[in-house]
Amino acid sequence: MKTNQHVTVVGAGLAGCTLARILAESGIAVTVHESREHIGGNCHDSRCRQTGVMIHRYGPHIFHTDRPEVYAFLERFTQFTDYRHRVRTVANGQVWPLPVNMLTLNQFWGTALSPQQARERLDTLRAPTQEAPEHLEAQALQLMGVDLYQLFFKGYTQKQWGRAATSLPASILRRLPFRFNYDDRYFQQARQGIPDKGYTQMALRMLEHPLITLRLNSPVTPLQMQDAGRKSHLFWTGPLDSFFDYEAGRLPYRTLDFEEFTAQGDFQGCAVMNYSDEDVPWTRITEHKHFMPDEHHEQTVCWREFSREAQPEDIPYYPVQQTLDDPLLKHYLKRAEETENVTFIGRLATFRYQDMDAVIWDAMQVAQRFIAGEKLTFPDSRA
Ligand SMILES: Cc1cc2nc3c(=O)[nH]c(=O)nc-3n(C[C@H](O)[C@H](O)[C@H](O)COP(=O)(O)OP(=O)(O)OC[C@H]3O[C@@H](n4cnc5c(N)ncnc54)[C@H](O)[C@@H]3O)c2cc1C
Repeated sequence: MKTNQHVTVVGAGLAGCTLARILAESGIAVTVHESREHIGGNCHDSRCRQTGVMIHRYGPHIFHTDRPEVYAFLERFTQFTDYRHRVRTVANGQVWPLPVNMLTLNQFWGTALSPQQARERLDTLRAPTQEAPEHLEAQALQLMGVDLYQLFFKGYTQKQWGRAATSLPASILRRLPFRFNYDDRYFQQARQGIPDKGYTQMALRMLEHPLITLRLNSPVTPLQMQDAGRKSHLFWTGPLDSFFDYEAGRLPYRTLDFEEFTAQGDFQGCAVMNYSDEDVPWTRITEHKHFMPDEHHEQTVCWREFSREAQPEDIPYYPVQQTLDDPLLKHYLKRAEETENVTFIGRLATFRYQDMDAVIWDAMQVAQRFIAGEKLTFPDSRA
Protein backbone atom coordinates (compact mmCIF):
# COMPACT_ATOMS: atom_id res chain seq x y z
CA MET A 1 0.00 0.00 0.00
CA LYS A 2 1.34 3.45 -0.93
CA THR A 3 -0.40 6.73 -0.08
CA ASN A 4 1.67 9.39 -1.90
CA GLN A 5 2.22 10.93 1.52
CA HIS A 6 5.79 11.66 2.58
CA VAL A 7 7.21 12.59 5.98
CA THR A 8 10.66 13.37 7.32
CA VAL A 9 12.09 11.88 10.49
CA VAL A 10 15.17 13.50 12.00
CA GLY A 11 17.24 11.03 14.02
CA ALA A 12 17.69 7.26 13.66
CA GLY A 13 17.53 6.40 17.36
CA LEU A 14 14.77 4.15 18.66
CA ALA A 15 12.20 6.96 18.46
CA GLY A 16 13.03 7.63 14.80
CA CYS A 17 13.24 3.97 13.81
CA THR A 18 9.90 3.13 15.46
CA LEU A 19 8.14 6.08 13.81
CA ALA A 20 9.63 5.29 10.43
CA ARG A 21 8.62 1.65 10.55
CA ILE A 22 5.02 2.15 11.62
CA LEU A 23 4.45 5.03 9.21
CA ALA A 24 6.01 3.10 6.32
CA GLU A 25 3.84 0.07 7.06
CA SER A 26 0.78 2.29 6.70
CA GLY A 27 1.92 3.29 3.20
CA ILE A 28 3.63 6.60 4.04
CA ALA A 29 7.05 7.21 2.48
CA VAL A 30 9.62 8.21 5.12
CA THR A 31 13.05 9.82 4.80
CA VAL A 32 15.19 9.44 7.91
CA HIS A 33 18.07 11.87 8.35
CA GLU A 34 20.75 10.91 10.85
CA SER A 35 23.68 13.19 11.62
CA ARG A 36 25.93 10.36 12.79
CA GLU A 37 27.47 7.71 10.60
CA HIS A 38 25.43 4.99 12.28
CA ILE A 39 21.88 4.20 13.36
CA GLY A 40 20.55 3.25 16.80
CA GLY A 41 21.14 6.64 18.47
CA ASN A 42 22.53 6.25 21.95
CA CYS A 43 21.64 2.56 21.98
CA HIS A 44 24.16 1.96 19.19
CA ASP A 45 26.47 -1.01 19.74
CA SER A 46 29.22 -2.65 17.70
CA ARG A 47 31.86 -5.28 18.21
CA CYS A 48 35.38 -4.44 19.38
CA ARG A 49 37.72 -5.27 16.47
CA GLN A 50 40.45 -6.60 18.74
CA THR A 51 38.41 -8.80 21.11
CA GLY A 52 35.09 -9.40 19.35
CA VAL A 53 33.20 -8.20 22.45
CA MET A 54 29.96 -6.30 21.76
CA ILE A 55 30.36 -2.76 23.08
CA HIS A 56 27.49 -0.43 24.05
CA ARG A 57 29.06 2.65 22.49
CA TYR A 58 27.12 5.26 24.49
CA GLY A 59 27.02 3.45 27.82
CA PRO A 60 25.30 0.29 29.04
CA HIS A 61 21.75 -0.35 27.82
CA ILE A 62 19.43 -3.03 29.18
CA PHE A 63 15.97 -3.36 27.73
CA HIS A 64 13.10 -3.78 30.21
CA THR A 65 9.37 -3.24 29.89
CA ASP A 66 5.97 -4.01 31.29
CA ARG A 67 4.32 -2.97 28.04
CA PRO A 68 3.46 -6.12 26.04
CA GLU A 69 2.78 -4.02 22.92
CA VAL A 70 6.32 -2.62 22.91
CA TYR A 71 7.85 -6.05 23.42
CA ALA A 72 5.69 -7.59 20.68
CA PHE A 73 6.72 -4.81 18.30
CA LEU A 74 10.45 -5.31 18.97
CA GLU A 75 10.21 -9.08 18.79
CA ARG A 76 9.48 -8.68 15.09
CA PHE A 77 13.05 -7.43 14.66
CA THR A 78 15.07 -9.27 17.26
CA GLN A 79 15.11 -11.98 19.86
CA PHE A 80 16.08 -10.99 23.39
CA THR A 81 18.58 -12.80 25.57
CA ASP A 82 17.48 -13.61 29.10
CA TYR A 83 20.14 -11.33 30.61
CA ARG A 84 19.04 -9.97 34.01
CA HIS A 85 20.78 -6.84 35.20
CA ARG A 86 22.36 -7.01 38.66
CA VAL A 87 24.39 -4.03 39.80
CA ARG A 88 27.04 -4.04 42.50
CA THR A 89 28.59 -1.00 44.11
CA VAL A 90 31.97 -0.44 45.68
CA ALA A 91 31.65 1.75 48.77
CA ASN A 92 33.98 2.19 51.70
CA GLY A 93 36.19 -0.74 50.64
CA GLN A 94 33.40 -3.30 50.23
CA VAL A 95 31.17 -4.58 47.43
CA TRP A 96 27.42 -4.25 48.00
CA PRO A 97 24.34 -5.28 46.02
CA LEU A 98 22.19 -2.45 44.68
CA PRO A 99 19.33 -1.47 44.67
CA VAL A 100 19.24 -1.63 48.45
CA ASN A 101 17.66 -4.95 49.43
CA MET A 102 17.75 -7.33 52.41
CA LEU A 103 21.26 -8.48 51.52
CA THR A 104 22.51 -4.89 51.47
CA LEU A 105 20.83 -4.07 54.79
CA ASN A 106 22.03 -7.16 56.62
CA GLN A 107 25.56 -6.64 55.28
CA PHE A 108 25.44 -2.99 56.30
CA TRP A 109 24.27 -3.68 59.85
CA GLY A 110 26.19 -6.99 60.23
CA THR A 111 22.89 -8.72 61.08
CA ALA A 112 20.57 -11.52 59.96
CA LEU A 113 17.32 -9.59 60.30
CA SER A 114 14.00 -10.62 58.80
CA PRO A 115 12.22 -8.16 56.48
CA GLN A 116 9.92 -7.08 59.31
CA GLN A 117 12.85 -6.54 61.70
CA ALA A 118 14.70 -4.58 59.01
CA ARG A 119 11.67 -2.35 58.46
CA GLU A 120 11.44 -1.69 62.18
CA ARG A 121 15.12 -0.90 62.47
CA LEU A 122 15.02 1.41 59.48
CA ASP A 123 11.98 3.20 60.90
CA THR A 124 14.09 4.28 63.85
CA LEU A 125 16.73 5.73 61.49
CA ARG A 126 14.56 7.56 59.01
CA ALA A 127 14.03 11.31 59.09
CA PRO A 128 10.45 12.33 59.90
CA THR A 129 8.12 12.17 56.90
CA GLN A 130 7.45 15.41 55.07
CA GLU A 131 4.58 15.51 52.64
CA ALA A 132 6.71 16.77 49.78
CA PRO A 133 10.47 16.65 50.48
CA GLU A 134 11.92 19.71 48.80
CA HIS A 135 15.08 18.10 47.45
CA LEU A 136 16.84 14.80 46.85
CA GLU A 137 18.70 14.77 50.17
CA ALA A 138 15.51 15.30 52.18
CA GLN A 139 13.86 12.51 50.19
CA ALA A 140 16.79 10.17 50.83
CA LEU A 141 16.95 10.87 54.56
CA GLN A 142 13.24 10.15 54.80
CA LEU A 143 13.64 6.93 52.82
CA MET A 144 16.75 5.42 54.40
CA GLY A 145 18.31 7.59 57.11
CA VAL A 146 21.65 9.32 57.09
CA ASP A 147 24.14 6.38 57.14
CA LEU A 148 22.82 4.47 54.13
CA TYR A 149 22.37 7.71 52.26
CA GLN A 150 25.95 8.78 52.89
CA LEU A 151 27.41 5.42 51.94
CA PHE A 152 25.51 4.78 48.72
CA PHE A 153 24.00 7.97 47.39
CA LYS A 154 25.61 11.20 48.57
CA GLY A 155 28.96 10.90 46.75
CA TYR A 156 27.48 9.12 43.75
CA THR A 157 24.87 11.84 43.28
CA GLN A 158 27.49 14.56 43.49
CA LYS A 159 29.61 12.81 40.84
CA GLN A 160 26.71 11.99 38.55
CA TRP A 161 25.04 15.40 38.61
CA GLY A 162 27.90 17.72 39.60
CA ARG A 163 25.55 19.29 42.13
CA ALA A 164 24.81 18.83 45.80
CA ALA A 165 21.84 16.59 46.56
CA THR A 166 20.18 19.58 48.22
CA SER A 167 19.91 21.32 44.85
CA LEU A 168 18.38 18.37 42.97
CA PRO A 169 14.69 17.49 42.78
CA ALA A 170 13.43 14.74 45.09
CA SER A 171 11.90 13.01 42.08
CA ILE A 172 15.29 11.59 41.01
CA LEU A 173 15.38 9.33 44.06
CA ARG A 174 11.69 8.50 44.09
CA ARG A 175 12.43 6.29 41.12
CA LEU A 176 15.05 4.20 42.93
CA PRO A 177 13.76 0.89 44.23
CA PHE A 178 14.28 -0.04 47.90
CA ARG A 179 13.40 -3.64 48.69
CA PHE A 180 12.60 -5.68 51.79
CA ASN A 181 13.37 -8.98 50.07
CA TYR A 182 16.42 -10.59 48.47
CA ASP A 183 15.54 -9.63 44.90
CA ASP A 184 18.74 -8.01 43.66
CA ARG A 185 17.65 -7.58 40.03
CA TYR A 186 18.04 -3.97 39.00
CA PHE A 187 14.80 -4.01 37.01
CA GLN A 188 11.60 -5.79 37.96
CA GLN A 189 9.67 -5.53 34.71
CA ALA A 190 8.22 -8.74 33.30
CA ARG A 191 10.24 -8.54 30.08
CA GLN A 192 13.97 -7.87 30.15
CA GLY A 193 17.04 -8.65 28.08
CA ILE A 194 19.44 -7.53 25.40
CA PRO A 195 18.81 -7.97 21.65
CA ASP A 196 20.66 -11.18 20.82
CA LYS A 197 22.48 -9.62 17.87
CA GLY A 198 22.68 -6.15 19.38
CA TYR A 199 20.65 -2.95 19.30
CA THR A 200 22.11 -1.74 16.01
CA GLN A 201 21.06 -4.90 14.22
CA MET A 202 17.57 -4.54 15.68
CA ALA A 203 17.37 -0.91 14.49
CA LEU A 204 18.64 -1.94 11.07
CA ARG A 205 15.86 -4.45 10.65
CA MET A 206 13.31 -1.84 11.74
CA LEU A 207 14.48 0.42 8.91
CA GLU A 208 14.44 -2.34 6.29
CA HIS A 209 11.30 -1.35 4.42
CA PRO A 210 10.87 -0.25 0.79
CA LEU A 211 9.19 3.02 1.84
CA ILE A 212 12.03 4.05 4.18
CA THR A 213 15.03 6.00 2.87
CA LEU A 214 17.90 6.38 5.31
CA ARG A 215 20.43 9.20 4.98
CA LEU A 216 23.41 8.84 7.30
CA ASN A 217 25.90 11.69 7.93
CA SER A 218 22.98 13.99 7.23
CA PRO A 219 22.62 16.57 9.99
CA VAL A 220 19.47 18.62 9.59
CA THR A 221 19.18 22.20 10.76
CA PRO A 222 15.73 23.72 11.23
CA LEU A 223 16.81 26.48 8.86
CA GLN A 224 17.40 23.88 6.15
CA MET A 225 13.94 22.51 6.70
CA GLN A 226 12.43 25.98 6.39
CA ASP A 227 14.58 26.84 3.35
CA ALA A 228 13.36 23.75 1.61
CA GLY A 229 9.84 25.15 2.06
CA ARG A 230 8.87 22.14 4.11
CA LYS A 231 5.51 20.83 3.01
CA SER A 232 5.48 17.43 4.65
CA HIS A 233 5.29 16.70 8.34
CA LEU A 234 8.52 16.56 10.32
CA PHE A 235 9.23 14.31 13.29
CA TRP A 236 12.09 15.84 15.25
CA THR A 237 14.02 13.58 17.67
CA GLY A 238 17.05 15.85 18.05
CA PRO A 239 17.55 18.27 20.96
CA LEU A 240 14.60 20.60 21.60
CA ASP A 241 16.76 23.73 21.97
CA SER A 242 18.77 22.93 18.82
CA PHE A 243 15.56 23.03 16.75
CA PHE A 244 15.28 26.71 17.69
CA ASP A 245 19.00 27.30 17.17
CA TYR A 246 19.47 27.80 20.93
CA GLU A 247 17.80 31.21 20.60
CA ALA A 248 17.22 31.54 24.36
CA GLY A 249 20.28 29.58 25.52
CA ARG A 250 21.14 25.92 25.98
CA LEU A 251 19.17 23.46 28.06
CA PRO A 252 21.53 21.86 30.60
CA TYR A 253 22.80 18.34 30.00
CA ARG A 254 25.34 16.06 31.61
CA THR A 255 27.71 14.31 29.25
CA LEU A 256 29.84 11.21 29.79
CA ASP A 257 33.47 10.40 29.09
CA PHE A 258 34.54 6.78 28.78
CA GLU A 259 38.05 5.48 29.45
CA GLU A 260 38.57 2.07 27.87
CA PHE A 261 40.92 -0.63 29.08
CA THR A 262 41.29 -4.28 28.15
CA ALA A 263 42.40 -7.19 30.28
CA GLN A 264 42.62 -10.98 30.17
CA GLY A 265 39.75 -13.04 31.52
CA ASP A 266 37.27 -11.45 33.88
CA PHE A 267 37.91 -8.02 35.40
CA GLN A 268 35.01 -7.56 37.84
CA GLY A 269 32.65 -10.53 37.47
CA CYS A 270 29.58 -8.48 36.49
CA ALA A 271 28.47 -6.07 33.78
CA VAL A 272 28.20 -2.91 35.88
CA MET A 273 30.05 -2.00 39.07
CA ASN A 274 29.16 1.39 40.57
CA TYR A 275 31.59 3.41 42.65
CA SER A 276 29.84 5.42 45.34
CA ASP A 277 32.79 7.04 47.14
CA GLU A 278 33.21 10.67 46.22
CA ASP A 279 37.02 10.42 46.08
CA VAL A 280 36.86 7.85 43.24
CA PRO A 281 36.38 10.05 40.17
CA TRP A 282 34.45 7.57 38.01
CA THR A 283 30.80 6.65 38.64
CA ARG A 284 30.94 3.10 37.33
CA ILE A 285 32.84 0.52 35.30
CA THR A 286 31.05 -1.42 32.58
CA GLU A 287 32.53 -4.78 31.57
CA HIS A 288 30.75 -5.28 28.28
CA LYS A 289 31.14 -9.00 27.73
CA HIS A 290 28.94 -9.80 30.72
CA PHE A 291 25.94 -8.48 28.78
CA MET A 292 26.30 -11.54 26.55
CA PRO A 293 26.82 -14.40 29.03
CA ASP A 294 26.44 -17.02 26.29
CA GLU A 295 29.48 -15.70 24.42
CA HIS A 296 33.04 -16.66 25.30
CA HIS A 297 35.89 -14.15 24.98
CA GLU A 298 39.41 -14.65 26.31
CA GLN A 299 39.88 -10.92 26.67
CA THR A 300 37.63 -8.39 28.28
CA VAL A 301 36.83 -4.75 27.49
CA CYS A 302 35.95 -2.35 30.29
CA TRP A 303 34.84 1.28 30.31
CA ARG A 304 35.33 3.63 33.21
CA GLU A 305 32.59 6.24 33.12
CA PHE A 306 32.95 9.87 34.15
CA SER A 307 30.15 12.42 34.23
CA ARG A 308 30.47 16.15 33.66
CA GLU A 309 28.53 19.20 32.48
CA ALA A 310 27.94 19.06 28.70
CA GLN A 311 29.57 21.77 26.61
CA PRO A 312 28.19 22.78 23.19
CA GLU A 313 30.41 20.29 21.33
CA ASP A 314 29.60 17.33 23.65
CA ILE A 315 27.05 14.57 23.23
CA PRO A 316 24.04 15.32 25.45
CA TYR A 317 23.35 12.33 27.71
CA TYR A 318 21.27 13.14 30.78
CA PRO A 319 19.02 16.23 30.88
CA VAL A 320 19.62 18.04 34.13
CA GLN A 321 16.21 17.90 35.74
CA GLN A 322 14.20 21.07 35.33
CA THR A 323 10.66 21.66 36.48
CA LEU A 324 8.11 22.68 33.87
CA ASP A 325 8.28 26.15 35.46
CA ASP A 326 11.92 26.60 34.48
CA PRO A 327 11.89 29.66 32.20
CA LEU A 328 14.27 28.21 29.60
CA LEU A 329 12.42 24.92 29.28
CA LYS A 330 9.10 26.76 29.32
CA HIS A 331 10.32 28.96 26.49
CA TYR A 332 11.22 26.03 24.24
CA LEU A 333 8.09 24.03 25.08
CA LYS A 334 5.99 27.06 24.15
CA ARG A 335 7.94 27.62 20.94
CA ALA A 336 7.39 23.99 20.02
CA GLU A 337 3.65 24.27 20.67
CA GLU A 338 3.57 27.24 18.29
CA THR A 339 5.41 25.37 15.52
CA GLU A 340 3.17 23.83 12.93
CA ASN A 341 3.75 20.57 11.14
CA VAL A 342 6.42 19.32 13.56
CA THR A 343 6.20 16.61 16.22
CA PHE A 344 8.86 16.69 18.93
CA ILE A 345 9.48 13.20 20.21
CA GLY A 346 12.14 11.11 21.96
CA ARG A 347 14.41 11.84 24.89
CA LEU A 348 16.17 14.89 23.40
CA ALA A 349 13.19 16.59 21.78
CA THR A 350 11.10 16.32 24.94
CA PHE A 351 14.08 17.02 27.21
CA ARG A 352 13.50 14.13 29.61
CA TYR A 353 15.23 11.00 30.74
CA GLN A 354 13.19 8.23 29.16
CA ASP A 355 13.86 4.53 29.09
CA MET A 356 13.88 2.81 25.72
CA ASP A 357 10.46 1.24 26.13
CA ALA A 358 8.90 4.61 27.02
CA VAL A 359 10.39 6.20 23.90
CA ILE A 360 9.16 3.34 21.70
CA TRP A 361 5.71 3.46 23.28
CA ASP A 362 5.46 7.22 22.63
CA ALA A 363 6.56 6.71 19.02
CA MET A 364 4.00 3.93 18.51
CA GLN A 365 1.18 6.13 19.84
CA VAL A 366 2.24 9.22 17.88
CA ALA A 367 2.64 7.27 14.62
CA GLN A 368 -0.75 5.61 14.96
CA ARG A 369 -2.47 8.90 15.68
CA PHE A 370 -0.71 10.54 12.74
CA ILE A 371 -1.98 7.75 10.48
CA ALA A 372 -5.46 8.44 11.86
CA GLY A 373 -5.08 12.11 10.84
CA GLU A 374 -4.01 13.66 14.15
CA LYS A 375 -0.82 15.73 14.28
CA LEU A 376 0.59 16.01 17.79
CA THR A 377 3.27 18.49 18.85
CA PHE A 378 4.37 16.25 21.73
CA PRO A 379 3.46 12.72 22.79
CA ASP A 380 0.83 12.65 25.54
CA SER A 381 3.50 11.66 28.09
CA ARG A 382 5.11 15.14 27.81
CA ALA A 383 2.23 16.82 29.61
C1 LIG B 1 24.14 6.31 29.66
C2 LIG B 1 22.73 5.92 29.37
C3 LIG B 1 22.29 4.64 29.68
C4 LIG B 1 20.99 4.26 29.41
N1 LIG B 1 20.61 3.00 29.75
C5 LIG B 1 19.35 2.61 29.50
C6 LIG B 1 18.92 1.30 29.87
O1 LIG B 1 19.68 0.51 30.44
N2 LIG B 1 17.65 0.95 29.58
C7 LIG B 1 16.76 1.81 28.96
O2 LIG B 1 15.61 1.42 28.71
N3 LIG B 1 17.16 3.04 28.58
C8 LIG B 1 18.42 3.47 28.84
N4 LIG B 1 18.82 4.72 28.47
C9 LIG B 1 17.87 5.58 27.71
C10 LIG B 1 17.98 5.34 26.20
O3 LIG B 1 19.28 5.70 25.77
C11 LIG B 1 16.94 6.20 25.48
O4 LIG B 1 15.65 5.83 25.90
C12 LIG B 1 16.98 6.08 23.96
O5 LIG B 1 18.27 6.16 23.44
C13 LIG B 1 16.16 7.21 23.36
O6 LIG B 1 16.10 7.13 21.95
P1 LIG B 1 15.85 8.44 21.10
O7 LIG B 1 15.60 8.00 19.73
O8 LIG B 1 14.84 9.29 21.75
O9 LIG B 1 17.18 9.29 21.24
P2 LIG B 1 18.65 9.04 20.67
O10 LIG B 1 19.05 7.64 20.86
O11 LIG B 1 19.51 10.09 21.26
O12 LIG B 1 18.51 9.30 19.11
C14 LIG B 1 18.43 10.60 18.57
C15 LIG B 1 19.18 10.59 17.25
O13 LIG B 1 18.97 11.85 16.60
C16 LIG B 1 20.18 12.22 15.94
N5 LIG B 1 20.14 13.66 15.72
C17 LIG B 1 20.11 14.64 16.66
N6 LIG B 1 20.05 15.85 16.09
C18 LIG B 1 20.05 15.62 14.73
C19 LIG B 1 20.00 16.51 13.59
N7 LIG B 1 19.94 17.84 13.72
N8 LIG B 1 20.01 15.95 12.36
C20 LIG B 1 20.05 14.60 12.20
N9 LIG B 1 20.11 13.73 13.25
C21 LIG B 1 20.10 14.24 14.50
C22 LIG B 1 21.25 11.78 16.95
O14 LIG B 1 22.51 11.63 16.31
C23 LIG B 1 20.69 10.44 17.45
O15 LIG B 1 21.16 9.37 16.67
C24 LIG B 1 20.10 5.16 28.80
C25 LIG B 1 20.52 6.46 28.51
C26 LIG B 1 21.81 6.83 28.82
C27 LIG B 1 22.22 8.25 28.56
